[in-house]
Amino acid sequence: MFYLYAIGVLTLAWSCHAEPFNTFDGPGHPACNNVAKVYNATSVEQMQSIVRDAAKSDTPVRASGKGHMWYDTMCSDDPTTIIIRTEDVNKISDLNLPEGASEGSVMIEAGVTFLQLAEYLHENGASVGYTLVNWNITLAGSIAMGAHRSSLREDSMVAAGALELHIIDGTGNITVVKRDNNNDDWLAASTSLGLLGVIARIKFKVYPDFKVYAQQKILTEDEVLNGDIYEMIQPYATANFWWWPFLKKFHHRYYDKIDINNSTQEGFQSTFSVTKTEADLALGILNPGKYLATSNQLAETTFFALWSAPNFHEKTTDKAILTWPVYGWNYDVLIGGLYPGYGTEWDFGLRGLTLELAFPVTQANAVLKRVRKAFDDSAAAGKPMTSTYRSGINIKFGKAYFDLLGQVTTNTSDGADWSQGAIMFDFPSFQPTIGDKLRYNEPFYHNLAQALITEFPCRPHWTKNTREVFTLAKDKIDATHLARFKKAREKFDPNGIFKSIVGQILGLYD
Ligand SMILES: Cc1cc2nc3c(=O)[nH]c(=O)nc-3n(C[C@H](O)[C@H](O)[C@H](O)COP(=O)(O)OP(=O)(O)OC[C@H]3O[C@@H](n4cnc5c(N)ncnc54)[C@H](O)[C@@H]3O)c2cc1C
Repeated sequence: MFYLYAIGVLTLAWSCHAEPFNTFDGPGHPACNNVAKVYNATSVEQMQSIVRDAAKSDTPVRASGKGHMWYDTMCSDDPTTIIIRTEDVNKISDLNLPEGASEGSVMIEAGVTFLQLAEYLHENGASVGYTLVNWNITLAGSIAMGAHRSSLREDSMVAAGALELHIIDGTGNITVVKRDNNNDDWLAASTSLGLLGVIARIKFKVYPDFKVYAQQKILTEDEVLNGDIYEMIQPYATANFWWWPFLKKFHHRYYDKIDINNSTQEGFQSTFSVTKTEADLALGILNPGKYLATSNQLAETTFFALWSAPNFHEKTTDKAILTWPVYGWNYDVLIGGLYPGYGTEWDFGLRGLTLELAFPVTQANAVLKRVRKAFDDSAAAGKPMTSTYRSGINIKFGKAYFDLLGQVTTNTSDGADWSQGAIMFDFPSFQPTIGDKLRYNEPFYHNLAQALITEFPCRPHWTKNTREVFTLAKDKIDATHLARFKKAREKFDPNGIFKSIVGQILGLYD
């Protein structure tokens, strides 16, 4: 009894003490610099009651799924902020896909991850199509922040699959917002940045289950920079490039549907699985790269060779698949997960920083050539740059999708043609674990971001950028869209309890 009492007192003491709330990368990687308490909610009703109590005392609230983001931009800097962790609010219900129907729906709660939903649907002969982003992320967190897969042909914003969003507003009540492009409530909720409230439930579109292939080819830099990029990406259900700037090569990865009877192979993709030994070897090359360009060049050459082979195992035997193309169930191939017995990169200290900016795909060649010029200028100044991330610089694409704050929205006042979709320049880099932890030629990354934002119509990804990048990019967001969003936000959350740094930088609060 005394023991329980002591734990209670300690918990209370801890809850009153402001401390960081970390991203998936753990201590030293705050999503929020100071929070007063973290609630591990277990039901939608409990989340409502937490918000109701917070509203009474004007306490700032943020929801968090899996913390799969990079920088300290989740909350505002108010140390009285509380976090509602949604992980244990994860029921799936009301699957409705009648025999022979081309699409149906399912209801999911805030903490449901892509992997959890995909496994459930697969067991029931259904899938979420091409809105799969990653295995270790919640759909609600993805929709809140405008996350997306890579496709110019198919809808790949996760929000594109949402039919209804049930949002706990600033009074603790649930407002149901249905897909309706003529309603600003919907257009704000579709990429809400978590500023309207907690997404508690989502009615999500489903399709009959299907199989896909994954194929990968190696292209020269010249073939991409001077090629028809749209034609290299648009024909496929999902496609992207990985850029290896030191080697001047690209991996061109693409996926599409196959007849379910075409192959018995069950390919399972993993992008994060490593053993401790592999991670230690990688750290042994990447950390000296803080000081030596040659070490980074060795890392890029090694990673390029590793990623030229399929990053897939056969699911039924866990044996490595050695040749392209790879076949399998859509979710195993498109997102996969961890190989049995492996850890994630971040479990073993391999951590990254990133930058992601979207540009109109009509300017794709100009953007990539501008980046190449930055690489060339840096090399000429004696600081050759490389990719220090496991699979190269990720070049993704997004089909146009209209909402107020999404990365691939259209009809904006910048006058740029976003109607054909967007190219996303996603530049992850290894963060050294030694010394001052700054990267080799650290100013390069900041100067490149500034140049790209200044010189092109552009939009930031909402969880893959620093405060510095949001501040630089805020004027690139359509002012009318921001004003319409602010009006919707004020309706859902008049007292601004769901505020965040991103919302503040965008001027969504008075
Ligand atoms: C390794 C890795 C790979 C990734 N790949 C991609 C990719 O391919 N494409 C892409 O677009 N993104 C990608 N992301 C980014 C990721 O999709 C987003 O950061 C997403 O928001 C993370 O979801 P989460 O559940 O982990 O949410 P968290 O990280 O916990 O939260 C992210 C933000 O969403 C808000 N939020 C979370 N849940 C809710 C809710 N229920 N209601 C309201 N607001 C909420 C939080 O307050 C916070 O501001 C990747 C991230 C990582 C780390």
